[in-house]
Amino acid sequence: MSIEPSLSNKLFDYIIVGGGTAGCILANRLSADGKHQVLLLEAGEKNKHPWISIPAGFSKLLTHETFNWRFQSQPEENTLQRQIAIPRGKGLGGSTLINGMIYVRGIAEDFDGWAEQGATGWSFAQVAPYFKKLEHYLPPAGQYADPARGLDGPLYIVEESERHPLTSAFIKSAQRHGLPLNPDYNVGAQLGVGYYQVVKKNGRRWHVADAYIEPARGRKNLHIVTGFLAHRLLFENRKCIGVQGAAAGKTHVFRAGKEVIVSAGAIQSPQLLELSGIGSKERLQALGIEVVRDLPAVGENYIDHYCTRMNWRLQGITTLNEQTRGLALVKEVMKYAFLRRGALSLGTGLVYGFVKSDPDLPLADVQFFFVHASYANAAERILDKAPGMTIGVAQLRPQSVGSIHIAKNDIHAQPLIKPNFLSAQTDRESLIGGMKVARDIVGTAPLRQYVAQEISPGSAVVSDEEWLQFARENGQTIYHPIGTCRMGTDANTVVDPELRVRGVQGLRVVDASIMPAMVSGNTQAAVMMIAEKAADHILSR
Ligand SMILES: Cc1cc2nc3c(=O)[nH]c(=O)nc-3n(C[C@H](O)[C@H](O)[C@H](O)COP(=O)(O)OP(=O)(O)OC[C@H]3O[C@@H](n4cnc5c(N)ncnc54)[C@H](O)[C@@H]3O)c2cc1C
Repeated sequence: MSIEPSLSNKLFDYIIVGGGTAGCILANRLSADGKHQVLLLEAGEKNKHPWISIPAGFSKLLTHETFNWRFQSQPEENTLQRQIAIPRGKGLGGSTLINGMIYVRGIAEDFDGWAEQGATGWSFAQVAPYFKKLEHYLPPAGQYADPARGLDGPLYIVEESERHPLTSAFIKSAQRHGLPLNPDYNVGAQLGVGYYQVVKKNGRRWHVADAYIEPARGRKNLHIVTGFLAHRLLFENRKCIGVQGAAAGKTHVFRAGKEVIVSAGAIQSPQLLELSGIGSKERLQALGIEVVRDLPAVGENYIDHYCTRMNWRLQGITTLNEQTRGLALVKEVMKYAFLRRGALSLGTGLVYGFVKSDPDLPLADVQFFFVHASYANAAERILDKAPGMTIGVAQLRPQSVGSIHIAKNDIHAQPLIKPNFLSAQTDRESLIGGMKVARDIVGTAPLRQYVAQEISPGSAVVSDEEWLQFARENGQTIYHPIGTCRMGTDANTVVDPELRVRGVQGLRVVDASIMPAMVSGNTQAAVMMIAEKAADHILSR
C-alpha cells in the first residue's frame, strides 16, 4: 500500500504499532474525543476473506499465507524435537482474524494473582469494569445475563447455539461424572460443563476490527496505515520519538509527540523491542545492535497453553467428519448461506469442560474442548473420513516458562521461540490427570454407547509414563502465548503497572505480552481488557 506523503511529515500524538486485538481497541479509544492525532500501523494488508467471516474457515486460516505469520517453535527435548506451528494473525484485527472465537474471561484469582505479583491496579475488582465495558453479551433465549456481564459494548458474544446428539451426550456424561452444568462460566465459579460462548454476530466471526475500527473509520484524527512493517523504534536520549519501517519496498519514518505504543503481540513485541535496542545487553551487542536500555527480561517469561487431543472412532451416529464431505457438504453450505447455521457456523471447540484433574484441588486446573469431529492431521485440522469425536485437554495455568528472542538483526528473520512446554512437574501432572478424566467421561453413559474405539492415545496407554509420552509426542499449542514483556515492579519485568517500558520515556507495550501469568482460559478477552484499561491510563496522563 502506498502511504500518503502528508503522513510522513506529521507529528502524531500517539503511534500504535500493530493493528491487532489490542491495537484496534487503542486506536478507537485514543481517537474517540477527537483531541489526539492517532496513527495505527499494521503489517498485514488485508482483513477481508470468506474464510475469515465464516467460522469454519478457522482450519484454513491456521496455515494461511496472507493472514498468518506462521511462526515455528525451536525443536525442544520435552516435545521430542518437534517443531510446533505457532500461528499469529496478520491484518487489521490481528489474531482475532484467525482465532477460534471462544470467549473466556478467566477467573478472579488470575487477576488477584497478577496484583500479588506486583501488577498493582490489576486485581479482579479493578479489571472487572473493563471486561464489562467491552462485552455485548447476548444470553441464550429465556436466560438473563448476570449483572456482571456487559450488554452494550462493542464485542458481540453469544452461546454456541448448534446442538448435536453427541454434544448433549457429552454434557450428560460429564454431569454424571460430577461436573455441574454451568450457565455462565464467565461469572463466578468456572468449574463445570456446557456450550462455549463465542465471538460471533449473526453467525459470522466478529473480529476486533469489526468491533472497534469500523465504527471509528470516519474520524479525521485516526490515521490507519496497513502493509507497513515496523523495523525499529527510534529514540532520542532514551525517549521514543517514532517508528521506522517499510511499506511496498519503501522506507518510512513516523514521528510521535507523546507516545509510541507497541501492540505487536507476545512474539513480535519483544522482537521489535530487541531490534530497537531494548533487551539483554549481551544478546543485543552479540548481534551488533546498539543498546538503548539493558532490559534482560524482554522475551523471557514465555507461557502458553499446551493441548493434547484425544479422539475416538464412533458408531451409530453422524459427525462433522461426514457432514463436511460430498453432497452432505453442499447441504451444509446451503444451510449456512440461508440460515447462518450448521457445520460451517462452527469454529473450533463446541462444548467446554472446566475440570479438576484431582478432586482435592480448590479450582479447575484443566480445560476441555469437545467437538463432534476428529482429525487425521490435528495441526492442520484435516478431518477423518469415518465418524469421530475429539476432546482437547489443556492445563489452565501452566507453570512451564520459555522464551522468544531474535536470532538476527533483521525483522524478517524468524525469531527463536522456545516454549519449554511440559518442563514443570505440575503441568505434566495436570495434563495426565485431565486426560484420565476425559477418558472416564467418555466411558460413562450415555456417551459410551457411541464409542467403537479410542483411537488416540488408545486403550493400551494406561501408566502415567505412557500418558506423558503421548503428550510429548502429540501436543500442540492452543495459540495463547503471553508474558514476554511482563508487567510488574521487580527486576524481571519489562513494563510497569501502567505498561510503560522501564528505563525509557514515551514507550508502552499493550498486548498479550504484558500478562505476568496465564489466565484460566483463552486469551482474547484478557487482551481486550488490557487494552481498554491501558487506554484509560494513557488518556489520564
Ligand atoms: C489460531 C489462533 C486461535 C486462537 N483461538 C482463540 C480463541 O478461540 N479464544 C481466545 O480467547 N483466544 C484465542 N487465541 C488467542 C488470541 O486471539 C490472542 O491472545 C490475542 O488475539 C492476541 O492479541 P494481541 O493484541 O496480543 O496480538 P495480535 O492480535 O496478534 O496483534 C498483533 C498485530 O501486530 C501486527 N504486527 C506484528 N509485528 C508488527 C510489525 N513489526 N509492524 C507492524 N505490525 C506488526 C500483527 O500483524 C498483528 O496484527 C487464538 C490465537 C490464534 C493465533
